[in-house]
Formats: sequence, structure tokens, C-alpha cells
Amino acid sequence: MLQDKDRIFTNIYGMHDRSLAGAKVRGHWDGTKDLIGLGRDKIVEIMKASGLRGRGGAGFPTGLKWSFMPKESDGRPSYLVVNADESEPGTCKDREIMRNDPHTLIEGCLIASFAMGAHACYIYIRGEYIREREALQAAIDEAYEAGLLGKNAAKSGWDFDLYLHHGAGAYICGEETALLESLEGRKGMPRMKPPFPAGAGLYGCPTTVNNVESIAVVPTILRRGAEWFAGFGRPNNAGTKLFAISGHVNNPCVVEEAMSIPFDELIDRHCGGIRGGWDNLKAVIPGGSSVPMLPAEVMRDGAIMDFDWLREQRSGLGTAAVIVMDQSTDIIKAIWRLSKFYKHESCGQCTPCREGTGWMMRVMDRLVKGEARVEEIDMLLDVTKQVEGHTICALGDAAAWPIQGLVRHFRHEIEDRIRVKRDGAVEIAAE
Ligand code: SF4
Repeated sequence: MLQDKDRIFTNIYGMHDRSLAGAKVRGHWDGTKDLIGLGRDKIVEIMKASGLRGRGGAGFPTGLKWSFMPKESDGRPSYLVVNADESEPGTCKDREIMRNDPHTLIEGCLIASFAMGAHACYIYIRGEYIREREALQAAIDEAYEAGLLGKNAAKSGWDFDLYLHHGAGAYICGEETALLESLEGRKGMPRMKPPFPAGAGLYGCPTTVNNVESIAVVPTILRRGAEWFAGFGRPNNAGTKLFAISGHVNNPCVVEEAMSIPFDELIDRHCGGIRGGWDNLKAVIPGGSSVPMLPAEVMRDGAIMDFDWLREQRSGLGTAAVIVMDQSTDIIKAIWRLSKFYKHESCGQCTPCREGTGWMMRVMDRLVKGEARVEEIDMLLDVTKQVEGHTICALGDAAAWPIQGLVRHFRHEIEDRIRVKRDGAVEIAAE
């Protein structure tokens, strides 16, 4: 179990003063100038050694990502863009940072931007996060007034400006290139890659896009050392992590824990157990709505909450938004609802996603009611494979994976529903 002394987020529940004065009492903005004094290369080296992997879902090593930024400017400025769009159903961890512990993020923005040679950083915050934007803007204003941002930020010799940009509520703007398009004032439509943002990102300039949590943990890692951070979790899955647990647990919560914590420990210790007891568990979506669900048999005994273990089970840690479903859940309907969401949020610019998400949703419509033939399950699976990996951005995969997880683990429920409906109906499915 993670000790209080090892928590990076010391005000995640908003119980303490979130102002600059309060943040300083909790150790933030302590010696920021000296951290910057380590120099770009050293900071990137420490981040690599810490083993931090991106907290936005993909899990790409953060230090490595930073090292892709140009060392020397070719005349173009470099930018850091922080992805605070947090729109994946089930995911609600970054909002706690922004509204309760905003200075961890702001200090991280300064240090990370310096490490990438950026004099400006944009935080792109989700449209619906109004109170979070207000809290974060108030903290940014405070930091400017205290000389921690602006010219010679925190007396480091580095000039740095931080801007907060409010999105308009589209899920797809959480995709990094769609986010950049939106930030530039256009429709949030993902760009083809390459070029990758490190080569040509915001306004055609070198850009790194990082998740809120990935940036907010940076100052503490530098203060406490790469080894300290790397000491949590299994190899290749380092650090502490915010888990956002929702659904059929007794106490849904957001909690910082050590990576690789066993699933049962996470639920029993922090959520008061599964509603109705462990025998009542049906399935878990372990990393936000886009990752495939896993059934109770897999999650009950020895499930490990980290990138590698969950990938081995053909799911993923994603954003660590853990959605728990008990036996009362209509599992087909739950996935149908996600299909409806992804259809609604498709930007429509590539055919497999635009057409495929609608097609998948319409089949799911019928599966929920049992009004389909059994062989249509395989047809649906086939469509998910044609969408997966054949689109410009990952929304296609995100729409396909929940259905694949459903069919992989709960095909019997879909078939049963069709049979029940069929036995009372005229149409006979060819089996
Ligand atoms: Fe747009 Fe979907 Fe294509 Fe992504 S996969 S670019 S959301 S149509």
C-alpha cells in the first residue's frame, strides 16, 4: 500500500488549501529554480530513468517522448501542450488535479517546457470542466503574480508563458492532433501521422503533447529522484498512479496508489469492496471505456493493475479508469451504450470509422433486444476487425475493442438472448 509520505498528490480530495500558499506548505514550488538549473539533458535523463510512462492512456515513455524534441531551434519555437481534455467515459482523475492540486501541474508545465526548450505551454481543458478551468486559471494568475511564471520564471532565467484554453466539448479533441487543430481554431479533426507533433505540431512547430498527470508528477520525481519513483510497481510499470474507480463498488473514488497494485487490494482497501461481495462481480473495464472488458474470473484472483499485465490479458490500463460491473449489469446494453457514444463522437473523416461505428451501433441495437441471428455475432466481430487499425486515429480502435471484449467473454449471453427471443418468434436463425 502506498504510504502517505509517498503521495505526489497531497490535496487530491480538496481538503487543504489549494492556493499557492497552501501548495508551498505541501512542498510544491520548492527549489524550482535549482531543478531547472539541472539543465535540459539531465532532466530528460532523470525522467527516462524514472520509468514514467504517459498517463493519458497510451503509456509511451515520457522521457523518451521529450527527447524527440529538437535540441537546437531552426528558428521555430517549441511548444508543450497539456492534454486536459479528459473525455473518456469513466475517466475523472485529471479534474481532481486541476481543481484541487493545480500547482503541481503548473510547476510541472514550467519544468517540462524548459526541458523541451519551450517558452510557451498551452493547457487544453475539456469544455465541460468549467469549475476546473476557474480553479486552474486562478492558480495560474497567482503564479504570475508571484513571479513563478512570466519573464525569468521562478528566477530560473527561463522566460515562460502558460495559457489555458477551453475546449468546446468534443471527445475527439482528446486525440493529440485533433487537439492541436482545435487549439489552432479549426474543427477538431485528427491529422495524419507522420509528421508527428515533435516535428510539426502546433502552428507547424515542434510540439509535445502530454497528459495532465504525466506533467504534474514531474517536479516530485525530480525532487525525490528517479530511483524513488521507479521503486513503485513492477519493472517497466513504474511509479504511483491515480486510479479512478466507478460503478458497482461500495465507495467509488479517485485514489493515488502504487502501480501494479492487485485489483482486489485496490477495491477492498479504497472502495469498500464490490457491491454485494466478490461473488457478485461480473466484469471490469480496467482502463476507461475504450479498452476491452475482462470477466470476473480474470479479475478476481491475482489481477495486477499495470500496463503489461492487463495487455497480456488482451485489455489495457489506459487511463486507469476502472469501471466495475456487478451481476445486475446488462452487459450487452452496457457495451451498446459505448457503441452509441463512439458513433456520436466519430469526426467522420475516414470511412471505416464513420461508417463502421454506425454499423456496429446498429447491430448492437439489435443484439440488446436479441433481435438478430447468431451468425451476426461473427459478422459484427469481422466488422470490428475491419475498423481496428484502419483509421487515421485511435477512435476506430476505441469503438471496436469494447465489442471485441464483449464477444470474447460474454458470447454466451448474446446467444442466449437471441435464442430466448427466437423461441418465441417466427424467424429461425440458421445454426
Ligand atoms: Fe475521425 Fe474516426 Fe477517423 Fe479518428 S478514426 S479521424 S475519429 S473518422
